[in-house]
Amino acid sequence: MSKLVQGYEVVIGFETHAQLSTQSKIFSRASVAFGAEPNTQACAVDMALPGTLPVMNIGAVERAIEFGLAINAHIAERSIFARKNYFYPDLPKGYQISQFEIPVVQGGEVSFFLEEGKETVRKTVRLERAHLEEDAGKSLHEDFIGQSGIDLNRAGTPLLEIVTQPDMRSSEEAVAYAKELHKIVTWIGICDGNMQEGSFRCDANVSVRKPGGELGTRREIKNLNSFKFMQQAIDYEVRWQIDQIEDGIAIQQATVLFDPDTGETRAMRTKEDAADYRYFPDPDLPPLVIGRDWVERVKGEMAELPRVMAERFVKDYALPEYDATQLTQSKAVAAYFEATAKDCGQAKLASNWIMGEVSRRLNASELSIEQSPVSAAQLAALIGRISDNTISNNAARQVFEGLWNGEGEVDALIDAKGLKQMNDTGELEKIIDDVLAANPKNVEEFKAGNAKALNGLVGPIMKASKGKANPGQVNTFLLKKLGTAQRLE
Ligand code: ADP
Ligand code: MG
Repeated sequence: MSKLVQGYEVVIGFETHAQLSTQSKIFSRASVAFGAEPNTQACAVDMALPGTLPVMNIGAVERAIEFGLAINAHIAERSIFARKNYFYPDLPKGYQISQFEIPVVQGGEVSFFLEEGKETVRKTVRLERAHLEEDAGKSLHEDFIGQSGIDLNRAGTPLLEIVTQPDMRSSEEAVAYAKELHKIVTWIGICDGNMQEGSFRCDANVSVRKPGGELGTRREIKNLNSFKFMQQAIDYEVRWQIDQIEDGIAIQQATVLFDPDTGETRAMRTKEDAADYRYFPDPDLPPLVIGRDWVERVKGEMAELPRVMAERFVKDYALPEYDATQLTQSKAVAAYFEATAKDCGQAKLASNWIMGEVSRRLNASELSIEQSPVSAAQLAALIGRISDNTISNNAARQVFEGLWNGEGEVDALIDAKGLKQMNDTGELEKIIDDVLAANPKNVEEFKAGNAKALNGLVGPIMKASKGKANPGQVNTFLLKKLGTAQRLE
């Protein structure tokens, strides 16, 4: 059951432009490096000089194949490039080379976990297609003596446009999808994923409807370049559309922009339909033919995919599916986990520490796991000392703090901070006897059936042991001495 907003169901479909990580452009040999002086990376082909012809960049095709394999899609044996005609100053040919009727990647799906209330549920978004196309240049509306400027460096940059079915039902789901897609393209290395530089741009198509009704008219929010803006933009758009409909105003299909300063979406133009673009096959490019042997070769050369790795973590390390998915958010996190788990032999503890304390500290200091001051080997050593009962969980957090601050290694820190758990049972029993003798009232109340009275005893015992008593052991001894074997919460 999807979440309703004021009685309306939200419907979202995504179009994402992922810039492919090739050295050169999709149909020319000009460089695609970011940040060069305007118009220094546009060759004759990119500028559409007469007599030039496009030549397909095999590296771009190979990346499209990798993407198709990563999402279980069909890789077309024969796909077609088409001209999408429109006039814009930054589009020198007057058309964009794209794919229309027969795209290179067809179908496929992306699935991910989502928190819904207290539950974690798995969602799957079906992909419609992914096609290869070239990027346009950029208009610069700074003041060039009263005129706008055009930078054609970006013209001809290879893009993979990834289109979903309208399968998402909330802004949270849309953001989770976008994050998962981002993870996939960066994991397989076909895109650097840099959202600020525009390497991964999402357009969100949003509509609302009464549950079970026909699809509503959509508006497309263009170029969302951060996950935060994505959520804000969709939430605003949904409320806006519902307000319009409630006021009796029909939604017009349109392309809108999100303004991060006002938090609002604003119509940019009414949306063109496919027919407006006068698509037709590009006579300058032959059909793109991809033999099965090529697909097989690419498959053989690809690194383990995140979902395959997650399945392996479940099998090899007996981890819950949720943990396995969290730990395969990036290759670096997965490698850190595997190194820790292998080293200490306690996969679940390693997972808990990495998803808990380690991520919390990394997030707070805005560090990536590669920059973690605590190495996998150090974390493994720490976990080893918890599982051999040398230190309690509480003490372990203090040791972790010491590791984080570079104060020394695990055993040295345990000694220096005096954190070793009391393993001398004689000493512990003596402390317990003293505390029982000093607190007759609690003992009496406990024996009379008040389980809570035990807390009044455990506290002073831990204090007398300077926190070094093993809480499990304290519990066992205490109950034995109070003459009950019953375990207490
Ligand atoms: P276009 O090519 O004109 O942008 P498409 O039919 O290719 O249109 O759809 C683009 C995106 O919009 C897809 O991700 C699709 O899932 C989504 N979409 C289509 N109809 C709706 C709708 N009524 N509400 C929300 N999203 C939609
Ligand atoms: Mg489209």
